[in-house]
Amino acid sequence: MDPIRRCVQALSRLPGIGEKTAWRLTWWLLRADDSIVTEIAAAVGGLQGSVMECERCCTIATTSPCKTCSDTRRDPSIVCVVERPQDIQAIEGSGEYRGFFHVLHGSISPLDGIGPDQLRIRPLLANLDGVKEVIVATDPDVEGDATALYLHRVLKPLGIQVSRLAYGVSVGTEIEYADKVSLMRALENRRLL
Ligand SMILES: [Zn+2]
Repeated sequence: MDPIRRCVQALSRLPGIGEKTAWRLTWWLLRADDSIVTEIAAAVGGLQGSVMECERCCTIATTSPCKTCSDTRRDPSIVCVVERPQDIQAIEGSGEYRGFFHVLHGSISPLDGIGPDQLRIRPLLANLDGVKEVIVATDPDVEGDATALYLHRVLKPLGIQVSRLAYGVSVGTEIEYADKVSLMRALENRRLL
């Protein structure tokens, strides 16, 4: 295939990049300094093989256990459950949270054939030593709610409190894009399920 088209096609696969943007980026790359293009290609290539899933929290990291799971200053009695690795960054950014995390890699969605067994729920259940509260920070949508209710049903009998972030209109539909102040408030005002 023509290398220019190949580049456009590859870039179009990225989230949020349509064909038009892919063309714009490709034209930019064609005119850019060789050293920049080489660095971008090397950086993207370097992702492969150097990342893994953390054995504890299931996030994507360069070590297992990851940096967050290895941080002994964190409060071991709280675990915040999120849908995606990047949600951890958003919640850390709120500056309000000092517990551990767990990444589900999705949310329960029967219509898409995603049930509890397709998510990283078993590793969560295997790591509950000393945990008193699980904060469910899944997205404020139907799937996020279904996931929160499921976790509540499983964790309550184990004597673990389950809470859900208090969402305001300003939080939007994905944790990843929520601003710092909204997330801080959502954490502070979380409600028990
Ligand atoms: Zn981890």
